[in-house]
Amino acid sequence: MTNRRIGVMGGTFDPVHHGHLVAASEVQARFDLEEVVFVPTGQPWQKSEREVSAAEDRYLMTVIATASNPRFSVSRVDVDRDGPTYTVDTLTDLKALHPDADLFFITGADALEQILSWRRAERVFDLAHFIGVTRPGYELNGAHLPPGAVSLVEVPAMAISSTAVRARTAAGLPIWYLVPDGVVQYISKRRLYSVPD
Ligand code: ATP
Ligand code: MG
Repeated sequence: MTNRRIGVMGGTFDPVHHGHLVAASEVQARFDLEEVVFVPTGQPWQKSEREVSAAEDRYLMTVIATASNPRFSVSRVDVDRDGPTYTVDTLTDLKALHPDADLFFITGADALEQILSWRRAERVFDLAHFIGVTRPGYELNGAHLPPGAVSLVEVPAMAISSTAVRARTAAGLPIWYLVPDGVVQYISKRRLYSVPD
């Protein structure tokens, strides 16, 4: 029997948007994944250059966005672990939950290029196969990556970013169709990303 194949999509998801969802869907189909698990990061300790929304809000938006897809699910492993999120910890926890599975870590190609700066970077390639999602025509500058450890998949809808969604919300511009309808409504209900009044 072949192993189960599970995709892992880590991210801040502040908020989750259709770029994430299209990428996960594309990789699910191309790699014949049984499931894609979205894993929102935990709350950062240190104040970074911007305030990240509460983990619980980011988690709930990810649940809302993925609820209708039977192949998508959301994991709390990073939200429930204290401290900053390291991908090696995410993958170790998921491997413990699914010991019989092959893991496929889905990430933007930009993030892939930073991979070697990750804590215990070489370990992550033992835990998962990496799939870099890119906009069409992108070439990975990956001479330092272990051969065969990384695949690239071109996806449409790459121009959407959480940064742009937050900026549009703060500016009073619509975010309909950039994020799922339920996420638009959640952002409005919880008054996320608005300039405080
Ligand atoms: P921010 O603008 O705050 O950095 P983001 O849009 O990059 O947010 P993240 O939560 O940081 O979203 O991204 C989670 C993962 O999804 C990362 O691997 C990132 O590279 C990838 N990603 C981000 N935007 C897209 C997109 N439009 N299409 C495909 N993958 C994306
Ligand atoms: Mg990003």
